[in-house]
Amino acid sequence: MKPISRTRPATGRIGRTRRYVALSSLAALTLAIGFTTSASTGQLMDTSATAAGPVSTARATALGPCMISGALGVQMSEGLPTGPGYTRSTGTVHALTLMIDFSDAPGEGSADARLAEFFPQTSEWFRTSSYGRLDYRPEVPVKGWLRMPKPFAAYGIERGAPFEPGYRDLVNDLVATADPEVDFREYDMVNVLVTPNAGPSALDTVLSVTFAGNQEAPIADGVPISNASFVYSRQDDGSGSYTQTGYRVLPHENGHVFGLPDLYTQNGGGAAGHWDIMSEDWGASNDLFAWHKWKLGWLDDNQVSCASAPGATEHKLTPLAERGGTKLAFVPLNSKSGYAIELRTHAGNDEAVCRPGVLIYRVNANVDTGRGPIKVMDSTKDSGGCTRRPNVQAELSDATYTPGETFTDKKRHISIAVTSAGKSGEYRVRVTRP
Ligand SMILES: [Zn+2]
Repeated sequence: MKPISRTRPATGRIGRTRRYVALSSLAALTLAIGFTTSASTGQLMDTSATAAGPVSTARATALGPCMISGALGVQMSEGLPTGPGYTRSTGTVHALTLMIDFSDAPGEGSADARLAEFFPQTSEWFRTSSYGRLDYRPEVPVKGWLRMPKPFAAYGIERGAPFEPGYRDLVNDLVATADPEVDFREYDMVNVLVTPNAGPSALDTVLSVTFAGNQEAPIADGVPISNASFVYSRQDDGSGSYTQTGYRVLPHENGHVFGLPDLYTQNGGGAAGHWDIMSEDWGASNDLFAWHKWKLGWLDDNQVSCASAPGATEHKLTPLAERGGTKLAFVPLNSKSGYAIELRTHAGNDEAVCRPGVLIYRVNANVDTGRGPIKVMDSTKDSGGCTRRPNVQAELSDATYTPGETFTDKKRHISIAVTSAGKSGEYRVRVTRP
């Protein structure tokens, strides 16, 4: 089979240099002693603002076994709830968006045109994926390119560059330059859209990076720049153009700001395929896993069905792209991992789905970002997949289970059978477990 990902050089796929700053163990300790979870959103709030009440207790009882969590120190865990320090992922979020350039890489075209590569598409993507729960507003208080005081080369930013010292210098300079026009307290996160002529082409090296939950970041107007995404170059959508899907690097980077880990690994998209933008943000549009939507507070608890009881249970799933209904069934294996079950169709943000059906994947909250915290179970191993779209991992594109098919974990005596598909688009699934 001809590899579809050929249009994207291996250096780009394997050496993704996206970085983030993991929570320090001190911050995690704070989580344990000083914070509680909001029952309605899963977002972390200070105990002074949210008291654990009857609803929290009910959640712990009904969904508790499915709220897996990782050990302290896991980098950007898939666990629930998301740790403190990340940007809130529901309601109205104000994203300070700055276009920057350098004396050795003067702004290419207008700053407005650079902004238009990402907006309004990024806001629309979030509105669709969140069922309207995330109102994402780019805010552009500085018109035109913001010129950094030093040449790009002086910051030493290259593939894999850590926060220290280059990015700290850059953020310090950015704050000092923008400060007369910007009150940093007014924003929930920062997007830095770098002029595309600074640094290498995205086809050679991916420089785009996010520093998330970084409380040690430089302070501006009294608040740390703790959640910031930097986007470089332009991402070809596989057809030689970036205009259709090139924006997708930004919702991926912002996913980190909201606490989501990278799902691609050293082997590219082989673990999670094209089923989540945290796995593949190149090529055709895709959505997020239902697990991520629950984690982000975009699903109500009553849209999640926890299959923790022994024996057989029935679960009716509605398509992930549609509003309402049960979106996620989860089969916890232990306190740290389990199987997630959802229904994916060609709709909403999912434009590359070529075999609609029930997707089953293993979530492990104890696995670091980039090490494969989510693995999709392939119903059709070694089939070569059902898509030939550029920049879409092909093999897992037909991983879904359709009516009459059953996934079995022989070792754990677990089976997940797709029993029927209804006229209005819902699927029924039977989970059997010890
Ligand atoms: Zn990433």
